[in-house]
Amino acid sequence: MASKRADWIFHRDRWVRWEEATVHVTAHALHYGSSAFEGIRAYHTSGGPAIFRLDAHIRRLFDTCKLLSMKMGDLTRDSVEQLCVEAVSRNGFDSCYIRPIVYRGAGGLGLYPLECPVELSIFAVEWGRYLGVEGIEKGVDAMVSSWRRFNASTSMPLGKIGGQYTTSQLVSIEARAAGFAEGIMLDADGNVCEGAGENLFLVKDGMLMTPPMAASILGGITRDSVLKIAEDLGVRLEACKISRDMLYLADELFMCGTAAEITPVRSVDRIPVGSGARGEVTKAIQDRFFGIVSGELDDTHGWLTAVPALEPASRAWPASTNAES
Ligand code: PMP
Repeated sequence: MASKRADWIFHRDRWVRWEEATVHVTAHALHYGSSAFEGIRAYHTSGGPAIFRLDAHIRRLFDTCKLLSMKMGDLTRDSVEQLCVEAVSRNGFDSCYIRPIVYRGAGGLGLYPLECPVELSIFAVEWGRYLGVEGIEKGVDAMVSSWRRFNASTSMPLGKIGGQYTTSQLVSIEARAAGFAEGIMLDADGNVCEGAGENLFLVKDGMLMTPPMAASILGGITRDSVLKIAEDLGVRLEACKISRDMLYLADELFMCGTAAEITPVRSVDRIPVGSGARGEVTKAIQDRFFGIVSGELDDTHGWLTAVPALEPASRAWPASTNAES
């Protein structure tokens, strides 16, 4: 759960105090979900905090903006990456979860959104293990949701769009009410898609499988990292259609995402996955993943962005971006 919050938030064009980072009630995004957002983790390493795959996240943020016809003005990917780094350093976080959000502000209530301003905010909070500390080792219990994930004929699954997250909320509510840690969505055709906020992998007879990008999934950055790690480890892998019964017959199953990191699934619909304990392939991938993000293993893919330390004095004073205002 989120706990310590940031003192400073980048809001529109400047750093403001947490309490000041507010949006008007007529903001378009509040009514119609017109926002693009990211969830990014900064990890503790012995050399200070490091942000995991910042460039990939900001690229996806800009891609989502493109899908929503949201123009970023003068903001480049580099400048947004820099602001994310600053959201960590300025607040003195050692590790945290960073949330950049680009949204349509106040400017009219019509559905046509292009007259509403496009605004950017970036904040950070401390955030521990999303599906529980124990879940990382022992695995979690999941259910197949009665909610199907939307597909590219009705929306844009590859976009991380605020309004699209009502489906994930329904999945989470249903799963928690039924006593499960997470729900798994099928796609419109009844094939396995992904979790409410995680991509899904299964292992069968040593083969790692995951639904492909065109299967209505969000193109997860952790998913991409898992695929690269699996390749490094020489695990056979395939992006392919997965049917519901394959979940029940899998040797291993795990979910992955920025918040959930890599979490084994030990049962689906109360049916144990494999032996019901974390499997070997899952553990090998986890070990590599957590080794890289913690700086204990070589960052061979160049996934970490170091966050320079800021003196407390320069943290407290709105510096660079606000200097001339
Ligand atoms: N699917 C959905 C619906 C998500 O919200 C997320 C979290 N962003 C993921 C998958 C995993 O994506 P990532 O690894 O980039 O966090």
